[in-house]
Amino acid sequence: MSSQARVVAYECPVCGHDGELEAWLVVDADERPDLIDGLRSGRVGTFVCDRCGGSVTRAVPLLVLPGGVADPVIAHDPDADPRVAQEQLFALLTMAGLVRHQQPLPAVLPVPHELLPVLLGRDVEADREALRSGTWRADSIALQRYGEWLGEITQKQFGMLVMNAIGELIQVSSSADLEALLERRPELLSDEADDLLRAFQAIADEEAPPEYQRQVEYWRHLIRLCRRDGVAQTFRRVGDS
Ligand SMILES: [Zn+2]
Repeated sequence: MSSQARVVAYECPVCGHDGELEAWLVVDADERPDLIDGLRSGRVGTFVCDRCGGSVTRAVPLLVLPGGVADPVIAHDPDADPRVAQEQLFALLTMAGLVRHQQPLPAVLPVPHELLPVLLGRDVEADREALRSGTWRADSIALQRYGEWLGEITQKQFGMLVMNAIGELIQVSSSADLEALLERRPELLSDEADDLLRAFQAIADEEAPPEYQRQVEYWRHLIRLCRRDGVAQTFRRVGDS
């Protein structure tokens, strides 16, 4: 059983009452589809003050395991201290049994609490694709806000992917490894990667030894060729020359 609730403290912003209520911290869709329905309709997950009935902004995060192949989602307060948020995420992943010895932590999609009901009714990957291809349409304010959030987070996640790939690029030492890396991490062939490498080169030009400058210049040149002609063809030609 991974769905779990706990008693948490709250302070009511309407009447100032310090109260306690039971809140779901982990919801597993495979086990409790009824709770997913409750979250979508707003019956579960929203806090109401037990003295005045006012609505309380939920501060504690909620981990949702949507089932199937979709990544876990953490609904959170976007203004929370990032370090506290990280600790809370780790605690919830542990509660859900997703922290396993010598295994990487699962990818988790962070969403503001207010957008969780919308998100749970959506196919996030299909929506990302619609945003990418320009076919995204939002016919309600809630959906419009969800679309804006998804566009931003997708861009942020892609930026992280590019950063990690460049981290790998720096460590590559042979031409064969470089070719394999460029095949495996197509994000290195993106405009974002080129922007980052350009910024990198500007720093190298000022501060790094000349052989390092030439290295960054070579990567950029090679990546431009790969973007134009494809990785395999570019490396065939480089190998022949
Ligand atoms: Zn109250």
